[in-house]
Amino acid sequence: MSSDLFQAPDYYQVDELLSEEHILVRNATRDWVKKEVTPIINEYAQKAEYPTQLTKGLAEVGAFGPYIPETYGGAGLDQISYGLMMQEIERGDSGIRSTCSVQSSLVMYPIYAYGNEEQRKKYLPKLASGEWIGCFGLTEPNYGSNPGGMVTHYKDMGDHYLLNGAKMWISNSPMAQIAVVWAKNEEGRIHGLIVERGMEGFTTPETHNKWSLRASITGELVFDNVKVPKENLLPNKSGLGAPLGCLDSARYGIAWGAIGAAMDCYDTALRYAKERVQFDKPIAAYQLQQKKLAEMITEITKAQLLTWRLGTLKNEKRATSAQISMAKRNNVDMALKIAREARQILGGMGITGDYSIMRHMMNLESVVTYEGTHDIHLLITGMDITGHNAFK
Ligand SMILES: Cc1cc2nc3c(=O)[nH]c(=O)nc-3n(C[C@H](O)[C@H](O)[C@H](O)COP(=O)(O)OP(=O)(O)OC[C@H]3O[C@@H](n4cnc5c(N)ncnc54)[C@H](O)[C@@H]3O)c2cc1C
Repeated sequence: MSSDLFQAPDYYQVDELLSEEHILVRNATRDWVKKEVTPIINEYAQKAEYPTQLTKGLAEVGAFGPYIPETYGGAGLDQISYGLMMQEIERGDSGIRSTCSVQSSLVMYPIYAYGNEEQRKKYLPKLASGEWIGCFGLTEPNYGSNPGGMVTHYKDMGDHYLLNGAKMWISNSPMAQIAVVWAKNEEGRIHGLIVERGMEGFTTPETHNKWSLRASITGELVFDNVKVPKENLLPNKSGLGAPLGCLDSARYGIAWGAIGAAMDCYDTALRYAKERVQFDKPIAAYQLQQKKLAEMITEITKAQLLTWRLGTLKNEKRATSAQISMAKRNNVDMALKIAREARQILGGMGITGDYSIMRHMMNLESVVTYEGTHDIHLLITGMDITGHNAFK
């Protein structure tokens, strides 16, 4: 058990840009993380296990479907509240935030946005309450950054679809009751299918040996002639734009989440630097350490403002995919650099599980890769500003 002394930095009074509701949601999530996540997270990350006891509390704070309407069990909040919630949860751990991002933006969102009314009623309340956990299958062994090349496919057999293929690197898959799976039909068009645990030929082997996101469970999805009922096809959107629409929502949450991880590293390093004495002075009094800390708070402040503005645009439905890419890329890179610098400020203590920094640093190595790599987001910005596609 470690005590949580976290004090959130707010160098530019960004709180003044937030509504009362935003602050209420943010503070409730912050308090919950201090009480429920901090005391146990190092132990679960060390043993590479998802703390299942957190699922109920995550549902109660509204982290499963924060912006899904209340009629379907969601919290009915705006995009800034959603972002602040992800910030606070990732302040605790990126793996726990990943579980929420997948559940909300990659499972509940496509069912809500691309599903029909029966699908919404059948799945969303159970996902919002945490009774069911979902996962999202897009990535394949040979198609990561280029998901449009996927080979997972289904055939129309008259009264059902027959699904074959495999997905890998799927967060939550070994514990999920349902998977939103992206697969090609006989014409090669991508559609989303809801595959349920227990369907014959559907297995979810766990991926072991990760040094990152150890408190988040990862696995594969294997489909060997799985009979999927026709009513499980998401009817209202198809093509690569459908999964990419989900990724926009998750990447937006990650842009906020990364700020939480960065804040935690900065706050820990600042406190440590003020207390740790070397050569008769606190190390915070040395210019080299001040440079690190001053640059950290500058970058955190820039990221807060970027993300708040993105949230405002998203509330007005004006945020573009390219703007979301820019924020995801910038903020995760910022958090990773801060984690590395903060780790150095703590010297040897920085490598231990007594502090959160090394865990954040290892987690962020996944966050900088999933939901579009650092390079891919740069190419998206490049294409947006020049009009030239440099992917191929
Ligand atoms: C812990 C974890 C959880 C994940 N969870 C999920 C999940 O729930 N669902 C899901 O579907 N996926 C998930 N993923 C997969 C993730 O989205 C992919 O790992 C990511 O998209 C990158 O694909 P890849 O690993 O195959 O790398 P690759 O695509 O093989 O990329 C390797 C390198 O090549 C670079 N590269 C690729 N193409 C280009 C190009 N055109 N130009 C320049 N450089 C290029 C990349 O930037 C990268 O540096 C998860 C991954 C991890 C690690």
